[in-house]
Amino acid sequence: MQIQFYIVATPIGNLGDISYRAVDVLKQVDYIACEDTRVTRILAEKYGFKAKLFDCHKFNEKERSEKIISLIDEGSSVALVSDAGTPGISDPGSVLIKELYKRNIKITSVPGACAVATFLSLIPRDTEEFAFIGFIPRTKKQQSDILNKYRHTNCVFYDSPNRLMETLKNIKEIFGNDTKIAVARELTKVFEEVKMDSVEKIIDYYENNPLKGEIVAMIFADNKNCTRDSELIQKINILKEQGFSQKDISKILSSLYGENKNKIYKLAMN
Ligand code: SAM
Repeated sequence: MQIQFYIVATPIGNLGDISYRAVDVLKQVDYIACEDTRVTRILAEKYGFKAKLFDCHKFNEKERSEKIISLIDEGSSVALVSDAGTPGISDPGSVLIKELYKRNIKITSVPGACAVATFLSLIPRDTEEFAFIGFIPRTKKQQSDILNKYRHTNCVFYDSPNRLMETLKNIKEIFGNDTKIAVARELTKVFEEVKMDSVEKIIDYYENNPLKGEIVAMIFADNKNCTRDSELIQKINILKEQGFSQKDISKILSSLYGENKNKIYKLAMN
């Protein structure tokens, strides 16, 4: 079966970060569905793509899925690209791809740049495990819920430069001053910058330096765990003062915070 639909990764900044295969595919397809035709036209002009461009973004993806399926039925080939990086990663794609699977249309992905992968490749980590939560939610309560859910894992997120300072302050409040954070700005671009430090020092740094451009960040798991343990110890002490037994304390705190009962029991013993 000949492939008529391609998901194609495009650069996240440096226009040179596109694969030979991606260029070949984008030169050869009849149509390119893109988030913003003005952004993709820059790439099309640089690399000589002649395909017709049309928009496919989060507000019209469902409707565009019908159009793409008709084009494929008529025998045309279509590539999906986003403004930057890999479609479907915090970008449109899933709604359309679900429809294509439903209709048994063969699809393939042409891999390339992706901000999460580029970022992680730059950050020294003790473990391969990480959680990627896409754009971090906006309110402190939502942030606290999701960050607590992944508190034992290195947790990667996207954020906007306008909100990052507030997010960092929330993280400081939720997990403590020493929580280790990595923040990358403008990856692959002229002003690329990676900072790794305690959340407190990172806040200080951005209070005195420009916080502009595109951001990807990670909260390291280990320090969070230490902070988390000290929070648990505080709660254990309060319950002890109220006369609860170690067994009851471990039951109560494990059901309230999803922590392992034995771990709480051991902390309570000490
Ligand atoms: N699909 C893209 C990918 O594969 O990474 C992500 C699209 S999402 C709409 C855009 C967000 O990704 C930006 O707001 C920023 O958080 C992150 N991002 C994209 N390019 C970046 C870059 N060059 N440096 C740092 N973060 C970047």
